Amino acid sequence: MLIKTCFAILISLMTTSLSATLVAGPLIKVRIAKALDRVKITGMDMIRELPQVKKNDRYLGRKSLVFNCKAQGSQRGQRSLVVASLSSSTGILSWKKKTYLGDLLLLTSHSGKSCDLVNQLPMESYISSLLAKEMNSKWPTEALKAQAVAARSYAIYKMNTGGVSRKLGREAHYDIENSEKHQVNGTLMDTTKSTWNAAKETTGEVLLKKNGDFVPIFFHSKCGGRTLTPDQVWGNKIEGYKGVECPFCHKHGRPAWQNKMSVAKFRKYLDKALKWKQMDTKLQLEPSLLKKLLIVPNKVADHDFRYYDAGNMITLEKNYLRRVVGRKVTPSHSFKVSREGEEVVFAGLGNGHGVGMCQYGAFDLAHKGWDYKKILAYYFPGYLLKKVY
Ligand SMILES: [Zn+2]
Repeated sequence: MLIKTCFAILISLMTTSLSATLVAGPLIKVRIAKALDRVKITGMDMIRELPQVKKNDRYLGRKSLVFNCKAQGSQRGQRSLVVASLSSSTGILSWKKKTYLGDLLLLTSHSGKSCDLVNQLPMESYISSLLAKEMNSKWPTEALKAQAVAARSYAIYKMNTGGVSRKLGREAHYDIENSEKHQVNGTLMDTTKSTWNAAKETTGEVLLKKNGDFVPIFFHSKCGGRTLTPDQVWGNKIEGYKGVECPFCHKHGRPAWQNKMSVAKFRKYLDKALKWKQMDTKLQLEPSLLKKLLIVPNKVADHDFRYYDAGNMITLEKNYLRRVVGRKVTPSHSFKVSREGEEVVFAGLGNGHGVGMCQYGAFDLAHKGWDYKKILAYYFPGYLLKKVY
């Protein structure tokens, strides 16, 4: 009975997902895994294309194909190549018991000794699987729709600007990574009716600069009171971003946090953070000699903090400190630093980098009856919502 029910759910998901492929829109290439030694892909009536040797093979029935990626050693040091492209007449393939909609591509990894695995799928299918991971499929529809537009804007920005290839300095053969560095998406099994509807009902909608340019749209879990701009957090200005008050997320998600570390450990981090700052600003900064570390009182909303070290006053932006102490010590960018005896205390609000849309804020506003357009206009007053396909 249970098996029958599971099968029925699978068929219903497959039907929904396949119908979603009919929605017009670009195909996105998502790197789902890297540095693999061996890859086994399973599917029904698969077609294997080997572009390097211009060979196409068809495998009728349910089959598994195994690729030995170490054998790609001859490609070492060369540019990435598409070794194989796999598709199925059902539109679905499996890797490591996970089900993917669309095609799977095997690339030679940067070292040439292993493979990277890329899933090529329709944008709206990608957005639907992402909503279950980056948000929560059980959240209100309007919050999911706002998240769909934000994630689609980021993905299309990456595709259109060739961001990954530019950064690598060579053709990457994928548009985006499935990781916290970019965006986290799921598999076909993570999607639900709500996530499909949120993706489908906002098909092709993105936020753009007022001059029509694409822009990387960011989001985070909980701002803790006010959202931040990219220059406040990462030091790079992006035209159109504005910090906004967010009195909506306080009662949701992670409560205020506090972490401590010894003064000795903090000094080591300060030196590391100063080195980063020195590299960015070319300023000559002395490392801590610290006999007496005096931290100037600062507030959660401040973007830097000052301290006296052997009589010198040093200003350090919090983004440098957060980069070295890590997200465990500072889960958000909104925090203050103080000294209590031989300990340094980090006390903050929220969770995440704080730039762009506050997800718990969107959750609260959707509950209050705001629609996704109003939610996006609130967190992104400098951008316009537009349907691009
Ligand atoms: Zn917030």
